[in-house]
Amino acid sequence: MWGQVPQQLKAKLRSIGSGLIHLLVPPYLTPFGESEIVEVMLTSKLQDKIEELASLIRSSRYLVAFTGAGISTESGIPDFRGPQGIWKKMSPIELSEFLADPAARKEYWRRKIESYPQMRDAQPNEGHRALARLYQAGLLQTVITQNIDGLHQKSGIPDDRVIELHGSNTYIACLDCRKRFSWEEALEQEYDDCPSCDACGGWLKPATISFGQAMPEEQTRAGFHEGGRADLLLVVGSTLQVYPAAAIPQATGDSGGKVAIVNNVPTVQDMLAQFLLFGPAGEILGALAERAISQK
Ligand code: NAD
Ligand code: ZN
Repeated sequence: MWGQVPQQLKAKLRSIGSGLIHLLVPPYLTPFGESEIVEVMLTSKLQDKIEELASLIRSSRYLVAFTGAGISTESGIPDFRGPQGIWKKMSPIELSEFLADPAARKEYWRRKIESYPQMRDAQPNEGHRALARLYQAGLLQTVITQNIDGLHQKSGIPDDRVIELHGSNTYIACLDCRKRFSWEEALEQEYDDCPSCDACGGWLKPATISFGQAMPEEQTRAGFHEGGRADLLLVVGSTLQVYPAAAIPQATGDSGGKVAIVNNVPTVQDMLAQFLLFGPAGEILGALAERAISQK
C-alpha cells in the first residue's frame, strides 16, 4: 500500500507532528506497517489533533463548513466517487443528453424515481447533527453544501444558512420557466419519457444541477463569498474534484483563511489544508463539536 502513495503525500505523512500540517492517518496509509501498533499511536494522536482543531474552531471568527456526499453516506445515501460510489455502477446523464434524447430522459427519471424514497426518508447522522450543534452554539456561521439531500436543514440548520450549490432533490422544477412542483404533482401526470410543465410545456426535472447544467448564480456567488469570508473552512466528505465548487477551499486560502479536511481517504487538494483528519465524518465531527462546545 505504502508504495502506491504519491510522493507528495508521503512527505506530508512523514511530517506528522513537525509543523503546521496535522494528519490523522488511517492505518493503511502509514509507513509503519504493523497496523496494531499504529492504531495505538494514532489514538492519542487523534485526540490531540481533534483537541487542537476544536480550539481553533472555538477561537475562529467565521467558521464555514463545506460538505460533500461523504457526510451523508452514514445516513445511507451512497456517494459518487467513494469506494462504494454510484459511478462505479453507472455513468451520469449530462444535461445535453437529457435534452436531446428521449431514452436518456426516460432513464434519468427511472433512476431518480428509484433512488428518491431513500433520499426522502434519510435522517441526519452524527456528522450533520454535530454541525447543527456548532451552529446552535454560535460557532458555525454557514454551511456550503454540494449535497442535494436536504439533510443539513433536517438537522436543524436554517434554510438561509445552507447554500446548496448543486440544487435540491426535495422538489421538481421546470427547466424553462423554473416553476416548482412537488414530487407528487410531477408524477401525477401521464408521461412517456418525461413529465412536462403545465405552465410552459418545458421538461420537468428534480431541482438538482446535472453535469453540463449552469450553476445557480446566486448560490454560487454566495458560496464563494462565504468561502472567502471564512477564517476557517471545515471541508467534510468531498473528493474536491467537482468544479467550480471544488475551488471554494482555494478561495478561503487566498483570503488568508485556514482549511481543515475531514475525509476517509486523501483528496486531490490535501496540500491546501492545514489540518487533515482521515476517518469517518460522523465520529470526527461529533468529537470536534463536543470539544469545541465544552471549551466555550
Ligand atoms: P464524492 O462522491 O465525489 O466524494 C465523497 C468523498 O467522501 C469520497 O472521498 C469518499 O471516500 C468520502 N466519504 C464517503 N463516506 C465518508 C464518511 N463516512 N466519512 C468520511 N468521508 C467519507 O462527493 P462530492 O465531492 O460531494 O461530489 C459529488 C457530487 O455528487 C456533488 O456534486 C453532489 O452534488 C452529488 N451527490 C450528492 C449526494 C447527496 O446529496 N447526499 C450523494 C451523491 C452525490
Ligand atoms: Zn415551465
